[in-house]
Amino acid sequence: MLDFVQLEQDLDQEERMIRDTAREFVEEHVKPDVGDHFEAGTFPKELIPKMGELGFYAPNLEGYGSPNVSETAYGLLMQELEAGDSGLRSMASVQGALVMYPIHAYGSEEQKEEWLPAMGQGEAIGCFGLTEPEHGSNPSAMETRAERDGDGYVLNGSKTWITNSPIADVAIVWARDRSAEDDPVRGFLVETDRDGVSTNKITEKLSLRASITGEIGLNDVYVPEANVLPGVSGMKGPLSCLTQARYGIAWGAVGAARDCFEEARQYAIDREQFGGPIGRFQLQQQKLAEMATQITLAQLLAYRLAELKERGDMRPQHVSMAKRNNVRMAREQSKVAREMLGGNGITTDYSPMRHMANMETVYTYEGTHDIHTLVLGEELTGLKAYQ
Ligand code: FAD
Repeated sequence: MLDFVQLEQDLDQEERMIRDTAREFVEEHVKPDVGDHFEAGTFPKELIPKMGELGFYAPNLEGYGSPNVSETAYGLLMQELEAGDSGLRSMASVQGALVMYPIHAYGSEEQKEEWLPAMGQGEAIGCFGLTEPEHGSNPSAMETRAERDGDGYVLNGSKTWITNSPIADVAIVWARDRSAEDDPVRGFLVETDRDGVSTNKITEKLSLRASITGEIGLNDVYVPEANVLPGVSGMKGPLSCLTQARYGIAWGAVGAARDCFEEARQYAIDREQFGGPIGRFQLQQQKLAEMATQITLAQLLAYRLAELKERGDMRPQHVSMAKRNNVRMAREQSKVAREMLGGNGITTDYSPMRHMANMETVYTYEGTHDIHTLVLGEELTGLKAYQ
């Protein structure tokens, strides 16, 4: 596997073990069928508890069954899962970074005990409802609202593009709390079997097909006060979760690109044209050289991000740069790998075009490439361009 500047030499034993466990899992349980799942538009649901058993959901959290592994170990896990498919990494990101993380950071003791061990084991599935039909890049304009009703709240509104909503047991729904001054955004744990909740599947996707995506309809849904995340109010709640998930994406995208590279390199060695392997042609070697260089640069950024995160110095702007760069890199390099495979490259027998299609989603969700550009622009100039 490509590790050109030997970053993996510095891994400790636990990090190596997690990398190897995830790599073997992907080889054995994901790669053989993922092309079929992509074609069928299905997620291999039977892997959900298995991934829990192996500790793939938020192992970087502490307590409630989570082992508190290093941020590098967590990053390596995301890298290996996305080398399988972005749908798989999305499953782990949503469950771990977007649902378990906010419960861990902002939940009550009862909420933590009820959900964290079950989610860690993959016995319960969570989803994260922020995006709305009319509010994607600007979620603070959300219309979903919570009104006080006796000891609880009544929720109304709709969310869309929600990973796993049709198979989730619980959704973290971000909504404006109309009972408080300035309508702050609050997080509500909404069990999907509550009256008034609907979770239609979105079926027309041409990207991230091996992942279930849906809507969340909320029609006079009552939730008790005990279902509100008590520890956070305002956009800091959802945005802090997104920082966690984007960290995983910055690593994961490298895995997708690396898988494309490995597939293209092998193909260049095996495929013969004009009396010998296509890998002997300088044009093909140039493509591999560029791909390996870009992947290595992205890896360096991911490893540095892990160091900053580990010591508590990682800022959202650091994550914006890494998510933006590494996903763009994977999007561009998957295309190059695809072209190196000729006609075979457009099939699901090989991974590059699947990764290439997936990257359109990864480029768009968790803050589009444009929005991360504007975040960096603000950081560099002090002037905000997206209001
Ligand atoms: P828009 O915000 O309408 O953007 C359209 C275009 O305009 C983009 O190119 C954008 O970059 C550009 N644009 C917008 N504002 C500006 C600006 N100020 N300056 C310049 N350009 C701008 N959301 C969740 O809450 N939970 C999930 O689990 C989840 N999973 C997803 C899974 C999939 C498969 C997909 C596709 C999306 C998912 N999303 C999820 C939603 C995702 O986060 C949004 O699609 C994303 O934030 C972009 O919002 P939008 O699609 O409404 O695009």
